[in-house]
Amino acid sequence: MIVYFDNAATTALEEEVVQAMLPYLTEHYGNPSTLYSLGRTTRAAIEEARKTMAKLINAQPGEITFTSSATEANNTVLKGAVLYAGVERIITSPTEHHCVGHTVEFCRDYLHTEVEYVRVDKNGNADLEHLSQLLAASDKKTLVSLMHANNEIGTMLDIEQAGNICRQYGALFHSDTVQTFAHFPIDVQQLPVDFIVGSAHKFHGPKGIGFLYMRKQSKVASFIHGGGQERGMRAGTENVAGIVGMATAAKKAYDHLEADKAHILSVKNYFKESLLSTLEDIDFNGNTDDRSLYTVLNVSFPPSDKSALLLFLLDLAGICCSGGSACGSGAAAGSHVIQALGKDPDRVSIRFSFSKYNTREEVDIVMEKLKETFASRKE
Ligand code: PLP
Repeated sequence: MIVYFDNAATTALEEEVVQAMLPYLTEHYGNPSTLYSLGRTTRAAIEEARKTMAKLINAQPGEITFTSSATEANNTVLKGAVLYAGVERIITSPTEHHCVGHTVEFCRDYLHTEVEYVRVDKNGNADLEHLSQLLAASDKKTLVSLMHANNEIGTMLDIEQAGNICRQYGALFHSDTVQTFAHFPIDVQQLPVDFIVGSAHKFHGPKGIGFLYMRKQSKVASFIHGGGQERGMRAGTENVAGIVGMATAAKKAYDHLEADKAHILSVKNYFKESLLSTLEDIDFNGNTDDRSLYTVLNVSFPPSDKSALLLFLLDLAGICCSGGSACGSGAAAGSHVIQALGKDPDRVSIRFSFSKYNTREEVDIVMEKLKETFASRKE
């Protein structure tokens, strides 16, 4: 039996989503840029999906661009802002996903962009006082990029406050919302954001499809050149089945958002309480209050002779979870996020992340395995 506690890395594809995608993998194969009926069918499906995605976040359809991933959407914003929107300075944090962090480094090293980092506290909260100070210190056209929720530790940004600060100083504001889109309501008419992104495989949709929301007034241009797809924002023949699948998955997630949230949070809290009441010297990385993703619990285990092998031991028992970001798992370097928190490097951090399909029984299975590895609490 597999216990899948790695839903921040990716989620299982929903059957309803597969069914919605199937016709676009079989009979509806027309290129959406063609004018005959086969092409018009796929064009119509794309535009319907765009409307669905826009409606969910209260945007206009023309503000949604489909991309191959959130990685590509984030690259489009950051590189596009520097190359085409006159941005000379980027302010970000040390705990961003690598697709933001490394892209910002690229802008610094190859496009000569000035880069500043907002301080984060020991739970990964961005210091918004510091953000104000950094913004006040320069007149250069600035883009601020701060993720809505950290994928490794779950810490959430006060996105509204951060956006208001950016507005106050006339800076563009980009937020990587990969871990929050389709998990929390987002209304771009209320939130002062210029760019947000999403990735279908984080909410039971297919892999290889993402989207960029770009406020109408905040135009950047594509760094991928070719055909005129996506109104010139993203060249390349569209992934029609992926787009249809993403919109179906997003709609379903929004329809059940509150019920799914309540269930997932109860699984997370049950796990948290089981860990604290059963094992000695357990700590957590990131916020433990409601400024945290209900889907993520990053546990810090005490050093022990077996702890270095923990992921391996859990894997042998059929338990899937991550040491830090999944995108970096397998890499020898430790997590840049955990490092930025200044935590004891000898402790072992494991991210457990949950979906609507997880149960308390699965938590019990994981707890049994953990009890074999770590000392139990003495009553
Ligand atoms: N941003 C965050 C916060 C993520 O968690 C991920 C995926 O792990 C990404 C970006 C990249 O998304 P994609 O897999 O669509 O490239």
